[in-house]
Amino acid sequence: MTLQNPLLFKQHCYIDGKWVNALNQKTHLVNNPYDQSELGHVPMCGAAEAKQAIEAAFNAQKSWKMLTALQRSTYLRCWADLIDKHKEDLAILMTLEQGKPITEARSEIEYANSFIKWFAEEARRVYGDVIPSNKPKQHLLVLKQPIGVVAAITPWNFPAAMITRKCAPALAVGCTIVIKPAEETPFSALALAALAEQAGIPAGVFNIVTGNPSDIGAEFTHNPLVRKFSFTGSTQVGKLLMQQCASTVKKVSLELGGNAPFIVFDDADLDLAVTGLMASKFRNTGQTCICANRIFVQEAVYDAFTQKLVSAVKKLRIGNGLDESVQQGPLINEAALEKVTNHVADAIANGAASVFGGKRHEAGKLFFTPTILTDMNMSMLIAREETFGPIAPLFRFKTEEEVIAMSNETNAGLASYFYSQDIHRIWRIAEALQYGMVGVNEGIISTEVAPFGGYKESGIGREGSRYGIEDYVEIKYLCMG
Ligand code: NAP
Repeated sequence: MTLQNPLLFKQHCYIDGKWVNALNQKTHLVNNPYDQSELGHVPMCGAAEAKQAIEAAFNAQKSWKMLTALQRSTYLRCWADLIDKHKEDLAILMTLEQGKPITEARSEIEYANSFIKWFAEEARRVYGDVIPSNKPKQHLLVLKQPIGVVAAITPWNFPAAMITRKCAPALAVGCTIVIKPAEETPFSALALAALAEQAGIPAGVFNIVTGNPSDIGAEFTHNPLVRKFSFTGSTQVGKLLMQQCASTVKKVSLELGGNAPFIVFDDADLDLAVTGLMASKFRNTGQTCICANRIFVQEAVYDAFTQKLVSAVKKLRIGNGLDESVQQGPLINEAALEKVTNHVADAIANGAASVFGGKRHEAGKLFFTPTILTDMNMSMLIAREETFGPIAPLFRFKTEEEVIAMSNETNAGLASYFYSQDIHRIWRIAEALQYGMVGVNEGIISTEVAPFGGYKESGIGREGSRYGIEDYVEIKYLCMG
């Protein structure tokens, strides 16, 4: 591994400002998904280490919350400057453990850091309220106070951004945090911790515990010192953790799975729609929660759109993410490859046609060829489940009413997209889609300045933007007689 600063490659957890092993000294191996080569080991911690980290965060919060907003903001700014300085190393680490193309890894580091910069500014704007009293001798006020210790669990698909989207607002308002990163991608999290340490963020304020997910998750969700639990990952695990949080009535934020519709109307600019779809569908090899999962194309433009999409997909370069020219890396693991393979097989068995791809790719064991399926219908697995891979399934539709019904026919409600040039239609569709985010003639919608989150079973709460800080404060009402 050729990093300019090898000290960013950490193989220990970061608890209470110290780099530590698991209490039982056990570790787990992390491999490169490109070629399965060994990258390193991280501690296989469990409930005991998670408890230590929570207690450290609890003690550290006593003084962290007493700092002024400007002081906390200055720490965050310093951390952000260091992340900028070490962007290339952080991107290399991410590509090695996650597989995404290096250009995307660089973009993710910038995106991750945008949350730290944004919330360093927002830290100074956590305003309360003065409420006009309905009695002559009373004053009514609202204070916003940090909720306390935050515990967070994050996924492998965005190993840096899913962490900063949670810890930046938490630290900004005066909370402290303990994070369990995904087992496939712990090194990005640990490198962020190394830079937090270098930025002088006090011991115990930011902690990383790697290891057994269910043991650490149980401690995070049951420990009464944790007042806020934030999770990004699958809907199935999110539901389980939400249930576990009930025992101590924690405030919960969930960013869960999606099943995004991508609608192309007959009045759309088809070239723009293809560009948007390529970005939405194939970024991170289709492993994003806001990825287009069901592509609905109106019948008059179905064939023309399919042709344009095939020529764009043919040009995708597949291989080792460290190669600057590569646009598609491997899938994260065997389970992901199996899911993609099953979704394609199920669609074909039920009448779909594979007009491009449809099979594994020779670049390596975890590669699947970017694939376009036509003649899809709503009874197929892909219509109901997130594929999380480079498969573009095209469904044909006739009317607006029909496509709105098909789009909303899911328990997910994260992102949605549509392309049209008719302003009346744009408003009708934007209002009718039951999704937390709608891209209108736009395939890339994530930014630190706008609220990210879902309707229905895609989650609770919003991350980023001025709304993102609300999940980390308690509202205290003062009635002064
Ligand atoms: P996952 O299996 O739910 O894993 C996510 C995290 O939860 C990992 O850190 C994992 O640990 C941990 N975990 C797994 N089982 C657990 C348990 N019983 N108790 C406590 N923690 C547990 O999800 P994934 O398949 O890795 O990630 C993909 C999913 O995340 C997709 O559904 C995607 O849509 C969703 N996602 C949503 C957003 C959003 O913002 N809405 C963003 C990104 C991803 P280990 O890695 O150690 O197993």
